[in-house]
Amino acid sequence: MNHRQRDWLEFGHQSDYVRKYIHADNIRASLYVSIIVIALEVWMLLSLSRMIVDSAAAGTPRDLAWIINHGAWYVVLLVVSIALFVHAIRFMRRKTYNARAGNTLLAIFAVTALAFGIHFGYNSYMKGEQILAFVTMVFFVFGLIVWKPVPAFFASTLTFGGFYLYIDHGLPATYGTQVNLFTLWITAFVVMLASYTRQVSEASKAERIEQANERLRNIATFDELTGIPNAHTFNNAVSILFKGIDEFSVSYAVLYMDIENYKSYNDKYGFVAGDNLLRDVAEGLLEIFSTELVARYSDDHFVALCETEVVESRVASANELLHRLRGDVRLHLKTGVFQPEMKEGIDVSQALDKARLACNEIKRHPGVRMNVYDKSLEQQFNRRQHIINSVKTAVAEGWIKVYYQPVVRCSDGSAELCGYEALARWDDPEYGFMPPFAFIETLEEFREIDKLDRCVIEQVCRDLRAALDAGEQPVPVSLNFSRLDFELYDVTVFLQEMSQKYAVPSDLLDIEITESALTVQVSELRRNMAILHDSHYSLWLDDFGSGYSSLNVLKDFRFDVLKIDMAFLRGFEDNKKSQPILQSIVALAKELNMVTLCEGVETREQFEFLTSIGCDRAQGYLFGKPSPTKEVPSL
Ligand code: C2E
Ligand code: MG
Ligand code: MG
Repeated sequence: MNHRQRDWLEFGHQSDYVRKYIHADNIRASLYVSIIVIALEVWMLLSLSRMIVDSAAAGTPRDLAWIINHGAWYVVLLVVSIALFVHAIRFMRRKTYNARAGNTLLAIFAVTALAFGIHFGYNSYMKGEQILAFVTMVFFVFGLIVWKPVPAFFASTLTFGGFYLYIDHGLPATYGTQVNLFTLWITAFVVMLASYTRQVSEASKAERIEQANERLRNIATFDELTGIPNAHTFNNAVSILFKGIDEFSVSYAVLYMDIENYKSYNDKYGFVAGDNLLRDVAEGLLEIFSTELVARYSDDHFVALCETEVVESRVASANELLHRLRGDVRLHLKTGVFQPEMKEGIDVSQALDKARLACNEIKRHPGVRMNVYDKSLEQQFNRRQHIINSVKTAVAEGWIKVYYQPVVRCSDGSAELCGYEALARWDDPEYGFMPPFAFIETLEEFREIDKLDRCVIEQVCRDLRAALDAGEQPVPVSLNFSRLDFELYDVTVFLQEMSQKYAVPSDLLDIEITESALTVQVSELRRNMAILHDSHYSLWLDDFGSGYSSLNVLKDFRFDVLKIDMAFLRGFEDNKKSQPILQSIVALAKELNMVTLCEGVETREQFEFLTSIGCDRAQGYLFGKPSPTKEVPSL
């Protein structure tokens, strides 16, 4: 028989799950069989006792040999059935279950029952009575062995064949009996096969459901990429742990780890290698925190919980791990640590947030690898919370203000206004006037930046409309977009809505996208950029040169304007290197048909140099600081 035939007959190899499922089914069936057999044998033994008592009363007592001859079978079958019953109960309670002993017991029961059936069937047949005892026993046994069709086939053939030869030997069977026996055999086998097939299909269905559940459980519990626990599991586990804490128990610290420069690693080695790195880091962290809790939180961020005492050694090991894995990209692990006060009701997500804040704070201190959350961060934490909690109010109440900074055209020493950049400010009743660095990052971190950006876009359109209504000819205004904007809402649709609502032509709105936006998932961004180009918006690459992949960006994306980061002008006078660099960037942009704009121009010399190397536009305090609408001419 080949594989397909065997599978078709359901004799093929079964998965562990299916075998266990059918086995469990049979053990449950054996419970009922054993109860019936116990009841039957008890009944038989009672009848036998009555017969013995009645015979003794009638003065013809039975001798011992007669009693043993008639009662031994019942006793043996009773004992085996009781054993089977106990075995089934233990199996169902999952207590000290021994599969080998169980199978042996089933086999002993099967053989005993068959022998009993043959013995009594034969005796009845010899007395010219029905052979029902045999039939009953055979069915009992098959009820138990259907989960093994091949052995069951041989068992049934041998039993029926054996019985037939046995009775034929004592009292030759008639043709009718022969036919009946054959029919019985074939029916028993078909019933058995049908039952087996049904069991297999039920078991396979149950297996598929179980597998699906398992997958769901895994997705909900473990991080798909690295296989270690995910944020959700971590939060749950820590919540449970913190619930059981009393004031005097050990003190724990929450760690938030971020791989610094991970994006450059991705750029250099590609996404597959980047994923592999994350897997290796996860595996290593799992080992380092083997007796504690560790999870992948998001992207290249991991979180852990350990006793305060071991924080430093764990962080050191984690840094060593990264050092081993990093290749020739300068990867570091930054760790923010928060030590909550050990008392009832610690809020896990807030604890993590504080650890994260401590971690992000490291950015401003190069060379630092670990930062512990302290009182000085508390103020910042509160301000962040305030920003997140009140962004909607800020938009609704007009706390978000748009400031405009002029952009000029460089032409032979004269600077002619050619545009404005719209820059957001947050005028808070509690925290006062805040520049973007105080809120942009936080809004991005909590994926709320779209609320601010839409508000800015609408205000810019409103201001442009007012200028147009006043009969002026406003210059274009460039808007800053976060990469998240392209994930959080349909930028193109929103821009079109606003242009229509305020009747502002699209050539009055320019779009600035920062270089760092182009180093993460870009498919949505790319799609949007294509549509925006088609709708005649001008796309600007902001902060060029501030990241690691500047040149790749030029190769992979089409921009109309290149905004050179102000970092190139810092130390312009002393650092003679920045001049040739600026010169080659401008030349390169020209070759790629891009307009160049240099940010952060503060001195006359800088401006003259930029004009001399052919830079098209300039922006900076030399021409004007960002100012509110009412102070901006022509807006
Ligand atoms: P950016 O787009 O590169 O904006 C230029 C920043 O440089 C502005 O800071 C501007 O005030 C400053 N700047 C301009 N000229 C000079 C100069 O000569 N010297 C110096 N030292 N600085 C100069 P600002 O307004 O604080 O904005 C910072 C960043 O915040 C912006 O960088 C932009 O990335 C982001 N941002 C501002 N407004 C928005 C917004 O509405 N939405 C989004 N998503 N981001 C915004
Ligand atoms: Mg900008
Ligand atoms: Mg910029």
